[in-house]
Amino acid sequence: MPPKLPSDLRPTEDFPGLRVKGGTRYSRSQGDYLCGGCGAEDHANGDDDVKALVNDWTANHGVAHRKGR
Ligand SMILES: [Zn+2]
Repeated sequence: MPPKLPSDLRPTEDFPGLRVKGGTRYSRSQGDYLCGGCGAEDHANGDDDVKALVNDWTANHGVAHRKGR
């Protein structure tokens, strides 16, 4: 069993990865990642920026790091 991720939105060094929180009518969506592969991190607010952040994560980090190994 993988360890349960903290409910905290923000990734930490112990739990690297991508976190996305959907917006509500009162708040904008938020996204954060901290890459366990290269240590890069990024943060975004708003639907468009979060979408771009997720695309960046998918294309350049996360699983993308495992493909070449
Ligand atoms: Zn990376």
